[in-house]
Amino acid sequence: MSRPLPVLITADQIERRVGELAAQIAPLYRGEPLTIVGILTGSLMFLADLVRRLDGPLRIGLIQASSYHGTQSGTLTVGREIQGDVRGRHVLLLDDILDTGQTLRHLVEHMRQLEPRSLRVAVLLRKQGKQRVEVSADFVGFEIPDEFVVGYGLDYNDEYRYLPHVAVLPREMYSERSGMEPHANPARH
Ligand code: 5GP
Ligand code: MG
Repeated sequence: MSRPLPVLITADQIERRVGELAAQIAPLYRGEPLTIVGILTGSLMFLADLVRRLDGPLRIGLIQASSYHGTQSGTLTVGREIQGDVRGRHVLLLDDILDTGQTLRHLVEHMRQLEPRSLRVAVLLRKQGKQRVEVSADFVGFEIPDEFVVGYGLDYNDEYRYLPHVAVLPREMYSERSGMEPHANPARH
C-alpha cells in the first residue's frame, strides 16, 4: 500500500463550501430556466453535490474538453456535448479548477455562441497567481496555492478522482521521472 497523499481540503470543508456556493447561486435563478453544464471529467463530483443543494427546476449538461498544454500552441478542442439546447436558458458552467484559464476561456466562448440567456462560471478551486488568460469565475470554492492537486474529481493520469477530499500530489511523484508538470501531457480534463 502506498502512503496516503497529504490532504489539502477535507470532505467536510468541501461539503460546507458547496452549501455556501449553492446559497449564493440559488437566488440568482429562482424560477428561471437554468442549465448547469459540467466540464468533464473533473467537475463530476462538484456538479453532483452542487445540484443537490439547489432546488430546481434545472437541467444538467456535460461538455468535454481536451488540451495539450505541453505543446507550444496549447491547443484546446471541444469534444462531446450532452447539454440540450441552451438558447434562452441561463447557463452556469462548472469546472474543477481554474489554472491558467485557457480551458474556461475557450469554453466560455463556445457557450456564448449557443446564445444562452446568461452565462456564469463556477469553479471549485482557483490556483493563486496562475491565471494567464483573461477569464473570470463568478463563483470560487477555494483559493489554493500552486500545487498539483487530485481528488474530488481531479485526476493524475486518471487516478485519484474517487477521493472524497482534495489532496496534494507531492512533486517527487511526478517531477523526477518526467521533468514536467503532470498536465503537460495530453490530458483529458
Ligand atoms: P487551465 O486551462 O485553466 O490551465 O487548466 C484547467 C484544467 O487543467 C483543469 O480543468 C484540470 O483539468 C487541469 N488542471 C489544472 N491544474 C490541475 C491540478 O492541480 N490538478 C489536476 N488534477 N488537474 C489540473
Ligand atoms: Mg477539468
